[in-house]
Amino acid sequence: MKQYECKTAQAGFAVGKACIVRSGRTGDYQKETPAAENAKLEKAVAEMNRKLSAEKEKDSSADKALIDAEMMILNGEDFLGEASRRIREENLSAPEAVAQAAEKICAVLQNNESDYIRERCEDIRGLASGLNSLIIGSMPSAPDSPCILAGTELSPGEIMMIGTDSILGILTETGSPTSHVSVIAGNLGIPYLYGLKDLLKKVKDGDNLILNTEEDSVVINPPEETIREAELRQAAAIKERSEQRMRAAQINTRTVICANISCAEEADHLLETGADGIGLFRSEFLFLDRPDAPSEDEQFEAYRHAAEAMQGHETVIRTMDIGSDKQALWLKMPREINPALGLRGLRVSLEYRDLFRTQLRALLRASVHGNIRIMIPMITSVWEVEEVEKEIRIAAEELDQRGVRYRIPELGVMIETPAAVMIASDLAKKARFFSIGTNDLTQYTLAVDREAKGLDPYFDPMHDAVLRMIELATEAAHKNNIPVGICGELAGDPQAAERLIRIGVDELSVSASKLTRVRSMVADIEEMLDKKNTQKNAQNAQEIHSPA
Ligand code: PEP
Ligand code: MG
Repeated sequence: MKQYECKTAQAGFAVGKACIVRSGRTGDYQKETPAAENAKLEKAVAEMNRKLSAEKEKDSSADKALIDAEMMILNGEDFLGEASRRIREENLSAPEAVAQAAEKICAVLQNNESDYIRERCEDIRGLASGLNSLIIGSMPSAPDSPCILAGTELSPGEIMMIGTDSILGILTETGSPTSHVSVIAGNLGIPYLYGLKDLLKKVKDGDNLILNTEEDSVVINPPEETIREAELRQAAAIKERSEQRMRAAQINTRTVICANISCAEEADHLLETGADGIGLFRSEFLFLDRPDAPSEDEQFEAYRHAAEAMQGHETVIRTMDIGSDKQALWLKMPREINPALGLRGLRVSLEYRDLFRTQLRALLRASVHGNIRIMIPMITSVWEVEEVEKEIRIAAEELDQRGVRYRIPELGVMIETPAAVMIASDLAKKARFFSIGTNDLTQYTLAVDREAKGLDPYFDPMHDAVLRMIELATEAAHKNNIPVGICGELAGDPQAAERLIRIGVDELSVSASKLTRVRSMVADIEEMLDKKNTQKNAQNAQEIHSPA
């Protein structure tokens, strides 16, 4: 038995046989003429497009937006165009040209200051190796029974082709928690470890593996007895998860418990898992990892899909929060020395008005199909909200001229800067609801970059200064009769829950995987606070002395 340290991309526990995915390597490949190499490239791209489209059409497909992003890159000029040019002009083999086109894109991404952008390299490399597997003829197919996928690197395309039902866990040599593979694994509840050096030398097809993200480790070929114990643990965890989910969906809480999503299809099963609605749809993910902006119709379909899936429950869609760590490369925004304090959030929308109006038109149209509310990020002044109101009126007029049906949704403001907290009473007169983004509120209140490495001890969302900010914003909202939600990570933190409920926030919005736990935790806290109140009232009644 061997045990190795890895890094966790998605938490969980898995035991099963290794299924090695050998991404296309260029080693023994026999190169032909440039015309023949280009033909092989085109055939492989067509095959990959066909398989990705087929996976996207499946009802169970969890990540249609990611498949779209994958296809955009695959067919784009920077990838396919560049590979094809290298075959023609540099006489490279198709696999070499694909690998070099990917590395050219990565060389640009690697210089970016943002971790998020640099980590996109893993997606590009995964795409290249998936394509090369097809060219060389070693594309993985669905295994006979569910297994743990292991490979140097994996692409979303490879995962889709293997079929998500066949995957118990994922283990890779390179990777990152924010790669597309990781997002897919997270949405599907698949444990994912990365960082195992020389993976293909250590793991062979059919080896027994145990992935344990609590210990950040993989165990290879443990004794039979350990495997049996792990299998029992895995089966118990799966059963417990589904029972907890069913129980939690029945529990009522006064606090509204909503889900955060980043693509429309994530809304599909939220009601079954007990979400009261969508508290934050991060719409900017529709704009990232692609060669150009999504059209009005494409956005309309995404927003309508989410709203319809929620069947009348609240569907809060945040306007694109582009900038800082979420760069849309096609927008070619000027490079900033301090992007967290630069053009981001609503500032981008007000700078690129056509883009913003397109998004607003899509949102107004989709609002006919459900309970959509619009939320605006990174607000520091009342005039910004007034500009958004103006833009919504213009978008409505444009739709009137086209004779298209629409509805004007309620407008909410994100409280994620100290400035917004200090003018919360003024903002509350303009907004129909507040949602506190504690990730950015912590960053800006404590003057600590949320992306910077090594500053963890300073990034404390439970710092008194941040909690006081939350109190102030909640007081201002309630004085003006509007509700307040929390949609940052703090909303799902067990250590914060009691404090937030005592402060009086009306809603907590968390990632789907935390819904069950948060709902039962909130129910317990509400019950405990109710009991304390009843006891206090009884005590007060006893202490009342009537005049003699
Ligand atoms: C936040 O800042 O807390 C938030 C919810 O927005 P994001 O994390 O997307 O910036
Ligand atoms: Mg934010």
